Amino acid sequence: PPSAPAALLAPLKRAFGHGGFRPMQQRIVEDAVAGRDVLVILPTGGGKSLCYQLPAVAEAEAWEQRREGPRPMTVVVSPLIALMQNQVEALRANGVKAGYLNSSMDFEEARRVQHEAETGGLDLVYLAPERMMSEHGRAWLSRLHVTRFAIDEAHCISAWGHDFRPEYRMLGELRTGFGDRFRGVPMMALTATATPRVADDVVAQLGLGGDAKPGEAGAVAVHRGGFERPNLFYEVRPKRKVVEQIAAMLEADDTAEGIVYCGSRKKCEEIAEQLQAAGLPALPYHAGLDAETRAENQHGFIYGDCRLVAATIAFGMGVDKPDVRFVVHADLPQNLEGYYQETGRAGRDGLPGKCVLFYSGGDRARVEFFINKKEDPQEREHAQEQLEKMIKYCHTTGCRTAFVLRHFGDELARVAPATGAHAGGEAGVERPPGRCGHCDNCVNPPKTRDVTQDARKLLSAIARTGQRYGLSYVFDVLRGSRAAKVLEREHDGLSVHGIGKDQPVGHWRALAEHLVQEGHLAFTHDGFRVALLTATSKDVMRGEVPVELAVSRAVDPRAGGPESE
Ligand code: ADP
Ligand code: ZN
Repeated sequence: PPSAPAALLAPLKRAFGHGGFRPMQQRIVEDAVAGRDVLVILPTGGGKSLCYQLPAVAEAEAWEQRREGPRPMTVVVSPLIALMQNQVEALRANGVKAGYLNSSMDFEEARRVQHEAETGGLDLVYLAPERMMSEHGRAWLSRLHVTRFAIDEAHCISAWGHDFRPEYRMLGELRTGFGDRFRGVPMMALTATATPRVADDVVAQLGLGGDAKPGEAGAVAVHRGGFERPNLFYEVRPKRKVVEQIAAMLEADDTAEGIVYCGSRKKCEEIAEQLQAAGLPALPYHAGLDAETRAENQHGFIYGDCRLVAATIAFGMGVDKPDVRFVVHADLPQNLEGYYQETGRAGRDGLPGKCVLFYSGGDRARVEFFINKKEDPQEREHAQEQLEKMIKYCHTTGCRTAFVLRHFGDELARVAPATGAHAGGEAGVERPPGRCGHCDNCVNPPKTRDVTQDARKLLSAIARTGQRYGLSYVFDVLRGSRAAKVLEREHDGLSVHGIGKDQPVGHWRALAEHLVQEGHLAFTHDGFRVALLTATSKDVMRGEVPVELAVSRAVDPRAGGPESE
C-alpha cells in the first residue's frame, strides 16, 4: 500500500510505540477509518488488536482537536476476561482512555465504568458478550454513542467453527435490533481461525456489509493472510514405533524442547513414561490430571528441566513459551485448523521450528470411532469431511504449506515472507510457483510411480466379488489365496483371482488408501468396512484416469492400511 498518512503513523508511534505496520494492518485500519465493515482473519500473534485500537485512538485525537459532536467510542466485544484486562491496562499505561466491563468486577467499579462510557469519557470499552444479553445491559448499550463495534474471536458466532459460544449469537442483533440505533455503525470482526465457510457465516450472522454484495459500495472488506509460518518446517512421516521415533528426534538435538500431541490421555501417559524410562525428561498434560499436577507440569515445561510435554489438545491455550522448537503429532489430528493452530505454537520467537506429523493409515479408524459417536448427522458429516481433508494433507505429494493456505482461503505469496529466520529458502526472494521451500515435499520432492494397472486390478476385484467384503478379503482374492472361505464362495474361479500375487499385501493397502484419498474407493460406515466403488471408480477401471503413488514416503506399506486396528 502507499505510505501511511501521518494521522495514523503519529498515534501508532505515540500510543503503541510501533514505528510501522505489520503486514495487512495498514489496509485494515484505513478501511475501518473510512467507515467500512471489516472482517479480519489473521493468525494468532498477527497483530489483530491494533486493527481496532489504532482507529479508536486516531479518531479520539481528531475529535480532541475539533471537539464537535459527541466523543467517538469503540465497543470491543471479547470473551476472554484475562485478555481484556491486559489490553486495557496496556492501553491505559499509554494514555489511552480505555475501560472494561465483565463479571469479575464489583458493582461500584462497574457503575463507574458504565458512567464513564455514557458521558464520553472512554475511547474504547471492552465487554464480555454475555454482558449485552441482559435487559439492563441492552438498555445501557443503547444509551451509548458508539462509533464502531469490534468483535474479537468472531468465529465463536459460527456453529461451523471449533469454538461456538451461544452468548455470541445475540451479537447478530446489533444491526437488526436496538431500534435501528446501531444500523449504520461500522463493525469489525476479528478471528484467527476461519475457513471460508466460517468466514461467510460470520459475515452473515453479524450482517457485515448489510445488503451490499461483494464489490459493491458498502460491502464488507475482508482481510485475510499472514498464515504462512516461514520459520517452521512441516513434514509428515510414516508412523512405526512412535516413541522410538520421538526419542530419536530428541537425541538428534539434545537441547530442543517441544510438545507431542496425542489422540488420547492414555497415550500421553504412555509416551511420557516411556521417554522418562529412556532418560528423557518428559511430562504428560491432559484434562484427566488434577489442576495442581497440570499446573506443575506446565510450569516444568515452561521454566524447568522438562524438555517435552505429551499432551492432548487441552494443552496450549494461553501457554506462552516462545522457544518451543518442535511440535509433534503422534496421532492424526481431527482437522486441519486444529492441526495448524497446534503447530503454530512452535517457533514463536521467530527461530526455526519443526512440525512433524506421524501418520499411519490405521489412524483413520480411530478418528472415525469418535465421529460415529456424534449424534447430530450434520455434525457427523462435517467431521467426516474434515477428517478426509486431514488425511489428504498427509498424502499430498505437493507443497504442504500451499495445501494449508488454500484451506484457509489464502495462497502462497510468490515472494517468501520475511519474518524471522527461515526454515528453508531465503526471505524476500521469489520462489517457484506453489513451492514454500519449508516443507518435506518442497525440499525433497517425493518420487511417484504409475500404478494405474494395479488400481484397475484392485477395483475390478472389488467389483467382481460384489462389493460385499472388507479389503483383507479382497487382497486374499487378488493374491490368489486358496483359503476355505475363498473356495467356498468359488472366488478362485474369478478372472481377478491371483492377478495381484506379484505384489505384497502392503502394496495393496497403500494403494487402497491412496484410492480412498482420490475418491475412487470408499467403505461402509457400519463397522464392517465393506469396500465400495464410487462414481469415479469406473473411470479408473477403464484406464481413463491415471493413478500415481508416492514411493517410500507418507504412505508406508509397513504402517498398515485403512482397515487395520
Ligand atoms: P493477535 O491478537 O492477532 O494474536 P496481538 O494483537 O496480541 O495479536 O499482537 C501480537 C503482538 O504483536 C503484540 O505483542 C503486539 O504488541 C505486536 N504488534 C502488533 N502490531 C505491531 C506493529 N505494527 N509493530 C510491532 N509490533 C506489533
Ligand atoms: Zn512446501
